[in-house]
Amino acid sequence: MKAYIAGGCYEHGRNSFLLEGSEYSLLVDCGTMQGSDTPNPYLSKEQISKIRYVFLTHSHKDHVGSLEWLYQQGFCGKVYLAKETYEQMPVKPREYVLLDISKLNTVRIENDLEVSYGRSGHCVGSLWFKMSFDKKEILFTGDYCEDSEAYICDVLRDTNVDMAFVDCAYGNKIGMALQSKEKLNEKINEYFNNGQHLLLPVPPNGRGFDMLKMVSSSGYGKNIVVDSVLKERIDASPLWKEWLKENSIFQDIQEMSENSFDDPTVIIMADAQMKSKQNQMFAQEIIKQEGKILFTGHTDLNSYASKLVKSGQAELLIYSVHQNLEEALILCEKNQWQKVILTHCSKELPIEDGSKFLKVKSKDKILF
Ligand SMILES: [Zn+2]
Ligand SMILES: [Zn+2]
Repeated sequence: MKAYIAGGCYEHGRNSFLLEGSEYSLLVDCGTMQGSDTPNPYLSKEQISKIRYVFLTHSHKDHVGSLEWLYQQGFCGKVYLAKETYEQMPVKPREYVLLDISKLNTVRIENDLEVSYGRSGHCVGSLWFKMSFDKKEILFTGDYCEDSEAYICDVLRDTNVDMAFVDCAYGNKIGMALQSKEKLNEKINEYFNNGQHLLLPVPPNGRGFDMLKMVSSSGYGKNIVVDSVLKERIDASPLWKEWLKENSIFQDIQEMSENSFDDPTVIIMADAQMKSKQNQMFAQEIIKQEGKILFTGHTDLNSYASKLVKSGQAELLIYSVHQNLEEALILCEKNQWQKVILTHCSKELPIEDGSKFLKVKSKDKILF
């Protein structure tokens, strides 16, 4: 079996992994590199012509954003994804199979291909995949977090595979999930005690529910408002109870109706990179009122979000929705994985030569 890294190693984005079997290929994720002039996976037309199935771990652009491009390059196979991922995708796959998390979570697709899946704790619809393909066992954690405030994770334990592709987006730079939550809690309480408004920009699907859960247990209590995009998602959240932990459904949250507030208020907006001009103006209004803006995830190159952080007008404190190196190593110890490829991290990781961890980057080929 040959694995080819079409993107996602030594880069934060473009997640895409090709498995080349003796008769056909599989692709796991088809992500975009946001802010890049060459944003698509490193796949040739010849490689694409052999792909029979694409598996999508979740709806974020760095995992699905190049699917339309894949079709344009001649892909005509079938796409497997959670039905909640399908619902969230702006561009839908053409031929697809929806995976249902409430049913038996194993599908036999061909004689030599069987796939199991479970919730990866990262957002609504996020899955890990364990595959038996062409006499090999391969695991993809997808974006994986066992300690989310809001999302359920079917934790990976005692799985035995030849090759595991493991989320390590935070590398060795950011603390473990539990520490990141603690720091964020302290910050939120500090702002509240100073009587400051707090703007939290989040992606539409992902940290929004985690942030709601965190601020609802802080001093801000009832003074939480959200924008219309998030309000729509909150209203729909009972449909996703299979993905959300207990007490993660907040239907009493109000939609923001004005730009100024009397009491210290938390405003959660579904615009993680602050792309919308209206939101940018709102951010300036918050700054004028001596409020705080806090980004809790990756800010894209050249985005308004990264400009605010760089100029000191906003703070960045990562809320963990991925694993760091320490967590990835702990997960490896709890499973039996022969070889491991750490993915999603923008930098080379301090891994010993000759260990089960392979030093690979995008465009590398691995035989196993
Ligand atoms: Zn993601
Ligand atoms: Zn990702």
